[in-house]
Amino acid sequence: MEKAGDGNVVDLLMENLTAIDDERKENCIHCGNEWYAIHHKDGVCHSCQQKGLPGRTALERRENIQAKVAWAVGIGALLFLLGMSLAGKLPAIG
Ligand SMILES: [Zn+2]
Repeated sequence: MEKAGDGNVVDLLMENLTAIDDERKENCIHCGNEWYAIHHKDGVCHSCQQKGLPGRTALERRENIQAKVAWAVGIGALLFLLGMSLAGKLPAIG
């Protein structure tokens, strides 16, 4: 058995880092439960990670893609309406 705090620098460092992490807590973005930061990964608690739920970064990426798709669909719809209007298939406005 090794004695704790016996001058092993790595052990001492790990103890200090763990102590710092232990003081931080985060709310899980899925279940909202407060977890110690060391159990968190990308805003997701350990329990939700086990369920395979995506992290904050993955969600933001997904939202960005959705925003781009929504924008493209909006522009597409406008161009479609403009085209229909020019082709005389829609009643003229005014
Ligand atoms: Zn969670």
